[in-house]
Amino acid sequence: MAMQLYHSSILDGSTDHYPGKVCTVIFLGGCPLRCPWCYVPALMERKNTKPEDLSFFLDHYRRQPSSQAVCITGGEPFDQAAAVVDLCKFLKQDGAKVKVETCGYFPDALAKALPYIDYVALDVKARLDAGQYSQMTGTKSNPLNLMTSVIRSMDLLKKAPRVFREVRTTVIPGFTDDPETIAAITKECSWADLYVLQQFRSDLEMNDPLFLGIAPPSKGRLLELAEVAKKNVPAVAIRTTDEGETRV
Ligand code: SF4
Repeated sequence: MAMQLYHSSILDGSTDHYPGKVCTVIFLGGCPLRCPWCYVPALMERKNTKPEDLSFFLDHYRRQPSSQAVCITGGEPFDQAAAVVDLCKFLKQDGAKVKVETCGYFPDALAKALPYIDYVALDVKARLDAGQYSQMTGTKSNPLNLMTSVIRSMDLLKKAPRVFREVRTTVIPGFTDDPETIAAITKECSWADLYVLQQFRSDLEMNDPLFLGIAPPSKGRLLELAEVAKKNVPAVAIRTTDEGETRV
């Protein structure tokens, strides 16, 4: 087990990351995207994080007797594809519920990891249009490749009903807070077990400082958009900074 993973930190005892389970959250380094509104810009670069053997993460999980689940997030976990697939496998063998949060850029790695994953949270950051997706993810080179990858990830999840599949969109005023965008996204993920509208927040460090000036959408706006989403996906929730997740 000599393989290594770059990570920034581990959060223990979370009750927010896996429904009904106490969860250990591992924040990995590295991401191929450059979303201008990214809350964790330091995690885009692997060099800002530190490597540890896979055994380090397994030992850490084993030392948390109350922990029943592990959420692997980032950054983009599958930026370190081979090591993350192995970590999922070893955690599953240890009896953990395994959740991965991903932007969908690495469908081949997702396919390899799916047998060991119980819960996937997939970001769909804009309607499935290469131009809009490239704007929302700061992807200047080959936006078609990004779009194709996200669509392939969605197709994989569509055919993986054993896994709990959350799709989520961050609602950013002026970018993704219109009913047309939410209708277009949710039409493509009617298979999701849960669709979540996440409230954009601007009180954190951000990749592009221009986004710091955007006020978060109101709860009322999220609820309006949730009604649009419910026409396409049966289970919808909103996630706000103050109140966490609320099913609607
Ligand atoms: S918000 Fe975008 S840039 Fe930031 S970690 Fe997620 S996918 Fe990467």
